[in-house]
Amino acid sequence: MRRRIATSGRVRQILRERSAAVSAVLFLCFAFIPSYAATSYTISLASPERHLIEVQMLLPVGAAQRELQLPVWNALYQVRDFAQCVNWVRAKDAAGRSLTVRALDKSRWQIADAQGGAVVEYQIVADSPGPFGAELNSHHAFLNLAQVLMNPVDARNGPMVVRFSLIPEGWHVATPLASVPEGGFSADDYDRLVDSPVEIGVFHESDFDEAGAHFRVIVDAEPGDYDMNQIDDTLHKVVAAATGWMNDRPFDRYMFLYHFPHGPSGGGMEHAYSTAISLNADVLAKSPEPLASVTSHEFFHLWNVKRIRPQTLEPVDYTKENYTRALWFSEGCTSTAADIIQLRSGLLEERRFELQLASEINELEGRPAHLTQSVEESSLDAWLEGHASYQRAERSISYYNKGELLGIVLDLAVRDASHDHASLREVFQWMNQNYAKQGKFFADSEGVREAAEAVSHSDLKWFFEKYVAGTEEIPWDDFFRNVGLRLIQQTNKVADAGFVPSRNSDGSVSVAALTAGSSAERAGLRVGDTVLEINGNATKREFVRDLAGLHAGDTITLEIGNRAGAEVELKWKVGTRAESVYELKDLENITADQRTRRAAWLKGEAE
Ligand SMILES: [Zn+2]
Repeated sequence: MRRRIATSGRVRQILRERSAAVSAVLFLCFAFIPSYAATSYTISLASPERHLIEVQMLLPVGAAQRELQLPVWNALYQVRDFAQCVNWVRAKDAAGRSLTVRALDKSRWQIADAQGGAVVEYQIVADSPGPFGAELNSHHAFLNLAQVLMNPVDARNGPMVVRFSLIPEGWHVATPLASVPEGGFSADDYDRLVDSPVEIGVFHESDFDEAGAHFRVIVDAEPGDYDMNQIDDTLHKVVAAATGWMNDRPFDRYMFLYHFPHGPSGGGMEHAYSTAISLNADVLAKSPEPLASVTSHEFFHLWNVKRIRPQTLEPVDYTKENYTRALWFSEGCTSTAADIIQLRSGLLEERRFELQLASEINELEGRPAHLTQSVEESSLDAWLEGHASYQRAERSISYYNKGELLGIVLDLAVRDASHDHASLREVFQWMNQNYAKQGKFFADSEGVREAAEAVSHSDLKWFFEKYVAGTEEIPWDDFFRNVGLRLIQQTNKVADAGFVPSRNSDGSVSVAALTAGSSAERAGLRVGDTVLEINGNATKREFVRDLAGLHAGDTITLEIGNRAGAEVELKWKVGTRAESVYELKDLENITADQRTRRAAWLKGEAE
């Protein structure tokens, strides 16, 4: 359970005082529209109970017509149309006279007669939890600023200042943004501003120095659910291993922000100078590995995707999708680097790593779409990931999954081609030196190939044609042989209920896919049916686990809502299907050379 701020009479008193404070703030601002070119925002936590945020935006003196735009996406590669949460928008001039606000489309507004500056105000509902969201409630505020702050289109590249008001008593603000002496925080431009998450509430804070930089650790969770010393210890190791591996530290300050909720959670969001991570408290209690894993991934993103960045993601188009073929590298190979960071720091042991690797191979090989969708196409299709039907194993692969594996085999290919003089580490360092440090973006997969060929002094066109742009089966053993490993495939008979369920955004469960010719199909189950009950139990969170717990021969009874609107009971016997299980094992007669290469590979270093 999360801590809640009691809504006592005292708090209600504070709430009443807020309304008065809003008017006072607005009145004062009319006199202070700045004549210099900074856009300034004041975010008022107007009503935590109703999740209402009010934003006052001061546009400096400038053009008569101004365009404001609330991003349709940021952080997640999904169009989420943040404008759906805007209740109203209004504008005034310096003298307090109303200015015309004209909606141009679903996410853009035009302010007229703003040559003398303007005060724009709008109200927005912030009720989406998690590191990609914007949430204000009686417990805290977490803000993905792109969800809350309109982009002043003409002034996007100019300086920005953001302040917070009506902060409940006892709450504090944590953000990687630089604070300004007059109060509030500043950013050089809109992109930097919205790349900075904000936590406002009662949180636990710790800090440490490592690799010459200062790190803040912010945790908003039940005190009994985590051990701050243990988290600090993990972070020290991750930071030391990552900066050492990259031989670089492109920042002086960095902030880790964690939430450990008991409800549904999981996920992290990378930023150039921070990360926001949400991890289920029960998952955290069971093992330190998930925290180390997600933290290593998000931390490495400060290079890969934030600084080593594909050209196709720049400039960010806040009005529509930025299509990129490079997410297999920007996301997947970030996971490969995260593996190496954990291996180097002792947070992941060799055997666990090999088990995880085999399980990633299982996932890829188990999806029929690995023969029809390339990892570049999967990157382009990231924007479809919110749709259940896109997630079907026949339709899509994951650029995280195949990208991480491609990072592993690209590492092995570069080692082989360079006679162990280069590795994935040199590929990343080359890209850091030749793109990031030069202020250049890279040309998607071609840019990765350029780097891999430069450090290995060899032609790797075949690799990119077959496995990145193409859908050829990856000959795992050809890659793993050099480090003395081989892939063993076993075929097991496993229970199969005959259908694949998917959980919808409203929590309901529906049938996403059906095995052709299965008992489920013969019993009358159809794709799109809503599953109301399984064996007499209402479909709750554990549904997928309950389904996995069934054995061949068990009777399954589903209460379903079909497309004709009827509720029907269907019953059949659970069948079986053949499932391949992969395992990585040492080669028989493994040589000393292979062992030496294995040791270097596990450290992420060329020999
Ligand atoms: Zn990522």
